[in-house]
Amino acid sequence: MDFEVVTPHTQSELLGAIAANQGKNFRIGAGYTDLINQFKLRPERDLTVINIAQIREDTFRNISKNDRCIELGALVTASDLLGNDTVRKEFPVLCEAASSVASMQIRNTATIGGNICNASPSADMSGALVALQARCRILNVKGERREEPLVSFIRGPRQTSLEKHEILERIIIPQNTSAVIKSGFEKIGARKSMEISIVFLAYHFQLSESGIIEKAGIACGAVAPVIPFADRACAYIVGKRLNELKDDEKEAFAQKVMEYAAPISDIRASAWYRNEVLYNISKALFE
Ligand SMILES: Cc1cc2nc3c(=O)[nH]c(=O)nc-3n(C[C@H](O)[C@H](O)[C@H](O)COP(=O)(O)OP(=O)(O)OC[C@H]3O[C@@H](n4cnc5c(N)ncnc54)[C@H](O)[C@@H]3O)c2cc1C
Repeated sequence: MDFEVVTPHTQSELLGAIAANQGKNFRIGAGYTDLINQFKLRPERDLTVINIAQIREDTFRNISKNDRCIELGALVTASDLLGNDTVRKEFPVLCEAASSVASMQIRNTATIGGNICNASPSADMSGALVALQARCRILNVKGERREEPLVSFIRGPRQTSLEKHEILERIIIPQNTSAVIKSGFEKIGARKSMEISIVFLAYHFQLSESGIIEKAGIACGAVAPVIPFADRACAYIVGKRLNELKDDEKEAFAQKVMEYAAPISDIRASAWYRNEVLYNISKALFE
C-alpha cells in the first residue's frame, strides 16, 4: 500500500484538497473503521487519503435542532449520538442503533457519515436513519449544496450517489410531529457484541394521544442489496391502534415487511434464516 495523507483543518482547505485531487485516485477518511479493512482487502497504489477527522467546523461536527428538524454533522460519532439528550429521548431508534455498533472503542471513532458512505446493507446507524426518513446534505468543491433522501443516496453495496467532487456534509432528520412515539432497533447478530447484523429492523412510529399510529418509518437491514424503507408496511399500519392489533393484522404487517426482503446466504447466515428472523421480529413488534 502506498499512499499520501492530506489533513485539512477547515472546510475551505477540505474543498481545496478535493479540487486538487480530481484527476487522481483519492479516498475520504473519517474514523477509518471501514476504510482500513478495505485497504487490507484491496490494496491500492498511488492513493491520496483526504483525512477529514481534523475538520473543526460545526457543520461537520455538531448536532443541532430547530422546529423542523435535527441535523447531524457527518463527523458525529456513534458515541456522540449516545451522549445527546435529543437523540436519546426523541429518536430512540437511532440511539439503539448507535449503541449496537461494535465496542466502545469503535463507537468513539465510527462516524455517521462513514456508516452511510460505506453503503453496507447491514450498517446499523444508516438503517435507523432510513426509518427516520433522513436526508443527506452534500457539499461540492464550489461550495454548493444539494439534498437527497438517504434512501436514494445509497445506490447499492458500497455505492452512493456522491460524485468525485462531492462530500457528505450533514444528515437531516425531520422533527417528530407527535410527543408519543414507539421507536427502536431490533438487531440480530451471531453474538451480542462486536457483531455485524445478520438482520435488523429499525422502526419509528408516531402516535396520537389515544394510541393511533399517525406516522410510521420502517427499514430492514442485511436482507437486500440496500437498506429498504418498507413503505407498504408503513401504509398498512398507519391509522391502526398500536395496542389493539389483532394477530392477523400483525401477520399481515410482517408479510408487508417481507416484500422488501431478498436476502442472500453468506458466512453469517442463510437466506432462509434471514427471512425467518425478519418475519418473526416484524410480527413480534406489537407484542
Ligand atoms: C470490529 C468492527 C465492528 C463493527 N461493527 C459494526 C456494527 O456492529 N454495526 C455497524 O453498522 N458498523 C459496524 N462496523 C463498521 C464501522 O464501524 C461503521 O460503518 C463506521 O460508522 C464507519 O465510519 P468511519 O468514520 O470509520 O468511516 P471510514 O472508515 O473513515 O469511511 C468509510 C467510507 O465512507 C467514506 N466516507 C467517510 N466519511 C465520508 C464523508 N463525510 N463524505 C464522503 N465519504 C465519506 C470513506 O471514503 C469510506 O469509503 C464495525 C467495524 C469494525 C472494524
